[in-house]
Amino acid sequence: MSSPPSDWREFDRRHLWHPYTSMTDPLPVFPVVGAKGVRLQLEDGRELIDGMASWWSAIHGYNHPQLNRALEAQIAKMSHVMFGGLTHPTAVGLGQRLIELTPPPLQHVFLCDSGSVAVEVALKMAIQFWYSSGRPQKNRLLTIRNGYHGDTFGAMSVCDPDTGMHALWSNLLMPQFFAPAPQCRFGQEWEPQDIVALQALVEKHHQELAAVILEPIVQGAGGMRFYHPQYLKEVRALCDAYELLLIADEIATGFGRSGQLFACEHAAIAPDILCLGKALTGGTMTLAATLATTRIAEGLSRGEPGVFMHGPTFMGNPLACAIATASIDLLLASDWQQQVRRIETGLKRGLAPCRDLPQVAEVRVLGAIGVVEMKAPVNMRRIQPEFVAAGVWVRPFGKLVYVMPPYVMNNEDLATLTAAICRVVANHKGTQLI
Ligand code: PMP
Repeated sequence: MSSPPSDWREFDRRHLWHPYTSMTDPLPVFPVVGAKGVRLQLEDGRELIDGMASWWSAIHGYNHPQLNRALEAQIAKMSHVMFGGLTHPTAVGLGQRLIELTPPPLQHVFLCDSGSVAVEVALKMAIQFWYSSGRPQKNRLLTIRNGYHGDTFGAMSVCDPDTGMHALWSNLLMPQFFAPAPQCRFGQEWEPQDIVALQALVEKHHQELAAVILEPIVQGAGGMRFYHPQYLKEVRALCDAYELLLIADEIATGFGRSGQLFACEHAAIAPDILCLGKALTGGTMTLAATLATTRIAEGLSRGEPGVFMHGPTFMGNPLACAIATASIDLLLASDWQQQVRRIETGLKRGLAPCRDLPQVAEVRVLGAIGVVEMKAPVNMRRIQPEFVAAGVWVRPFGKLVYVMPPYVMNNEDLATLTAAICRVVANHKGTQLI
């Protein structure tokens, strides 16, 4: 069959799963037929200003000619070859860039399929490192509440058991250690008390802990919280003192979103293992990377099995590597830091009126991330069409109405986006989560 059935929307409703909605009684979806710059084109001709950058990823906007050209050039050579026993200059070019951009200790790159897989790879690297170092009992993980690291089993085990959307599986997941979420906010005064609970867990359990895993500075899908860089510094110091590895999940924060190229830079620390994804390809296709230090790479190569036990079919996919390379080059050639600062200013100004609404608990902004936290969960069935009617694409979850626009969004579109959020939120009294 070459073209979709004429009733393709109905086919979609009956047969295709969409994220986090019922198969039998799904929330409505809006048919998109094109996307360009910061606009999504709906089938009925309407255009929406996109506040979501397709979940943190489309930092350059859609249909970017430079990214398209990189893809076309790579297609003409080869779309894919296995990475076992073969290599190609496109993967090497991307690897070089990632090593140059990230903190100097990170020298070894594992290219994989998606953010969740990058997290699985990171966890396995940490555990295999200690196994190969003759300390197989160090095989558990410590993380902080309100975290989110993906949907696969290892990743689910380190998501917040309540807000991480995986409570259903709790009996099946590897039991991990959870410290309370950091309370000191980004930009507020540091309170040393904040690290005490995590420190106590490290002191008590370090013999059985392989690593601490966390999202640096910005906790994303587990609550959209921005915490104090000193917390991250303290975690790094504890990891060093007690022989734990530090895994930074920068899948959401990487490539400038928080105002620094990588959020770890706010605290001037380097992790032992770093996960990247989402904006890695400028939001064009799925690719992720797990970077490790030479100590990890050498450590897990010692003894038996002597090799890292992971090897996905589409590892180092040339199309994805080509477009990731082009996306990084585009980012570095742009004045991204100024763009993100400009968006931060626009979000602060534009979302400020929400603060006075009785249904709003808090408004917070960091880098190109804006959050309106409601006092009660929004009614998705109602609020989503209201955003679309207002000409914007905003996809809330739970109590969180949040945006992370493409960095190329101009001030006028940003003002339209934030004004629409204020208007829709002001009208939203429903508190029923569907
Ligand atoms: N880690 C973080 C911090 C994320 O935000 C996400 C995606 N929301 C993931 C991991 C999982 O990435 P993916 O959806 O590509 O598997």
